[in-house]
Amino acid sequence: MNKNIFILTHGDTGAFETGTVPFEVRIPLNGHGKKSVKKKAEVYPGLLVADHENAKSGDMHSGITGIVTEVTDTHITIKAQELAAPAEGEDPKPTGVEPVALASLEDAELQAALKGLGVDVRPLIKRCDLLIVNALNPEPGISYAESMLVHAKSTINAGLDMLKRLSPAARTVVALPTASTATFDGSDIAFINPQYPNSLDELLVANITGKESMKGVNVVDLHALYNLGAVAESGMPLTHTVVCVEGKNIVAPIGTPVGALLKEASIEVADGDTVIVGGPMRGEATGDLNKGIGKNTNALFVMPAGSTEPISDHACFSCGACIEHCPSRIQPNMISRYVEFNELDFCRQENIGACMECGLCTYYCPARRPMLQFIRLGKHKIALEESQVTACALQVEE
Ligand code: SF4
Ligand code: SF4
Repeated sequence: MNKNIFILTHGDTGAFETGTVPFEVRIPLNGHGKKSVKKKAEVYPGLLVADHENAKSGDMHSGITGIVTEVTDTHITIKAQELAAPAEGEDPKPTGVEPVALASLEDAELQAALKGLGVDVRPLIKRCDLLIVNALNPEPGISYAESMLVHAKSTINAGLDMLKRLSPAARTVVALPTASTATFDGSDIAFINPQYPNSLDELLVANITGKESMKGVNVVDLHALYNLGAVAESGMPLTHTVVCVEGKNIVAPIGTPVGALLKEASIEVADGDTVIVGGPMRGEATGDLNKGIGKNTNALFVMPAGSTEPISDHACFSCGACIEHCPSRIQPNMISRYVEFNELDFCRQENIGACMECGLCTYYCPARRPMLQFIRLGKHKIALEESQVTACALQVEE
């Protein structure tokens, strides 16, 4: 096995590139029930376009100036264009929003203000004693973390200060790759061997606490901290994020189409190539280059046609490679078969919940089975089944 392919440091400390304004953005919605704009509305950077019905999930805002061309349940499309000048005698139209003064807010007011500015608050306020900032690149090939620690230090510090205001944790540890020279006032540092899958939250916690349990610990990754820091520093809505596009770190408006970002990074997609949203180990393939990036999209990759054997639901031939490489010490071969046959109780017995979704079983499977996808499907079906059981129980109690 060539361990270098799993290395999480790339020595890339260059500044991020600022992407050009895309022709249009397609802002993804997920539970954003109330749309604040209609088709043909004129929008500008920072304008609210969709409210999230959950009080702790971030709202969505436009990152560009333009005209709304489509509003659906899944996305809002905005075509970039200059807005028409006001008619003679009319007041000038607004071109931006005012910052929110976050420094004076506390507790519920602060959380509500952050939600309104696009921040997903729930993962930041989780009850815990120990807060860990995961400052490693999440996967091999993703390179924004080292640049962020050097070129976005003030944003990261603003995010960390805000995170400490929100989190009930008594102690904060920043997990850095071995040999990093970054420092953080008021936080402990833990050095982690930068080799995948050590960047996974569960392994990070085990490494730092010595316990194989997430109880009492919350982990926030550097990408989320950067987004929080951008809002904390400016008091302005979250409209842009950093995406590592095949090694190039680009700051782009949320909703920028995948195809536009690949073009920005001078990457051609040919027939048969696979475009992956997210990292090469845990990301999801997409066939839709018009799909807009979300605030949590951290990477895009293209696997050229023919570079690897295609993944398909081939039969398992029981070689055991997935078991040998699974850091959770479960049996991915058995679990994936049980998912295929909808045997969810057997999935539970095989401890499907312990899967950290590292993707190593898919990587090593010589039969090229979509192991991680089977496991995610199994977890999703179990969650659905359990939510139905809870709903039935509540009805009986009423
Ligand atoms: S993705 Fe596969 S290898 Fe990784 S923890 Fe889950 S079952 Fe194990
Ligand atoms: S690696 Fe693939 S073929 Fe081998 S046991 Fe696991 S699922 Fe089966």
